[in-house]
Amino acid sequence: MKKIVLLGATGSIGTQTVDVVLHHKDEFDIVALSAGRNIDKLKELLKLLPMVQHVCVADSLTMQQLQQIYPNKQWHYGDDGLKELAALSDYDIFVDAVVGFRGLIPVLEAIKNNKIIALANKESLVAGGPLVKKALKEHNVPLYPIDSEHSAIFQCLQGNKKESIEKLIITASGGSFRDYNRNQLKDVTVEQALKHPNWNMGGRITIDSATMMNKGFEIIEAHYLFDIPYDKIDVLIHRESAIHSMVQYKDHAIIAQIGTADMRLPIQYALSYPERLLMYNAEPFDFMKFSTLHFEQASMERYPLLKLAYEVGEKGGNLGAIMNAADEEAVSLFLKKRISFLDIEKTVIETVKQLKFIQNPTLEDIISSDLMARDFVHNMWKGAM
Ligand code: NDP
Ligand code: MG
Repeated sequence: MKKIVLLGATGSIGTQTVDVVLHHKDEFDIVALSAGRNIDKLKELLKLLPMVQHVCVADSLTMQQLQQIYPNKQWHYGDDGLKELAALSDYDIFVDAVVGFRGLIPVLEAIKNNKIIALANKESLVAGGPLVKKALKEHNVPLYPIDSEHSAIFQCLQGNKKESIEKLIITASGGSFRDYNRNQLKDVTVEQALKHPNWNMGGRITIDSATMMNKGFEIIEAHYLFDIPYDKIDVLIHRESAIHSMVQYKDHAIIAQIGTADMRLPIQYALSYPERLLMYNAEPFDFMKFSTLHFEQASMERYPLLKLAYEVGEKGGNLGAIMNAADEEAVSLFLKKRISFLDIEKTVIETVKQLKFIQNPTLEDIISSDLMARDFVHNMWKGAM
């Protein structure tokens, strides 16, 4: 029985992680979880998971109210609370499925605590890749990806040597506006942007898919996870999302991972690796429904944030933290209808251009770069806020 600490339990990845755990009660148990502000969902989860001992919520007032209802559980709140869950002693796997930069410090804490890491929170690698890698090495801790493309690559690498890799091919659905030209992007709405053609995900990542910032984050994530240079990481638009990503080897063999668009597979594989468990409540992939697959080059002119991510990745330092923070703030402003869709790109590009570059940042540098980037965005859009 593996005991799990789950951050972001009330989110899209979090609830699907709970689903996997409930279908494999002999294998897994959740002993601690975190929610943000969705208290109804949290109460539902606590009913389903009576063994949960520790719970973290976003603020202290909510925590005090819940403490009255559930006096037998141990309560935590805020970013310190997330770190406290990571530091608990009696568990095996740390699932980081909280959204945003706040996932970084808890994952560093869990690594220091010698726990197995199952990572959905790509922001922690985008902002703090070198720090996470260094900690993994120091503590000799494994990290398994939950992001579907990286899980696919991880699966395609099984049984092969790293030296034999020619390149990684990350597939991209193209997001909500893949059939729009740049001119048509001027007037798109939040509602349109939130309609992802293939996946049902949280708000931020759905918008990031439409701008391709998400794919940009994923090349940086792949660079740190698999230790592959950026010129060997390609992005290929594949609108059906049937192939979740591929590895091309030196002999030109390409190994692809194919499946339905269901995040429970990568979640389950990260929890059970190296075992493969039964998948419940899901249809297996049906080739007859995918008789034609399409592939298209990802244009850097059409997707400037993808181009930016390659540049940011190459330069490294604190630029990933700046790019992520600017995007977090810009997406939040767009979701509140304060700025337009194309303003997201403008904001992220400008913030990365203006902020001070630090080549070898410490964790403190990363945290202050994150804060400065957020301030910069707020100043940029003062009138709109
Ligand atoms: P969601 O928005 O659905 O969920 C985010 C989770 O974070 C929720 O539990 C939310 O709590 C919590 N949260 C938000 N704000 C705070 C806060 N201030 N303090 C504490 N907790 C907070 O996101 P997703 O599940 O889609 O994504 C989670 C992570 O996984 C992201 O890093 C994303 O990039 C990554 N990922 C997601 C995929 C997907 O299919 N969804 C695919 C690949 C990667 P609450 O809702 O209670 O407020
Ligand atoms: Mg992905």
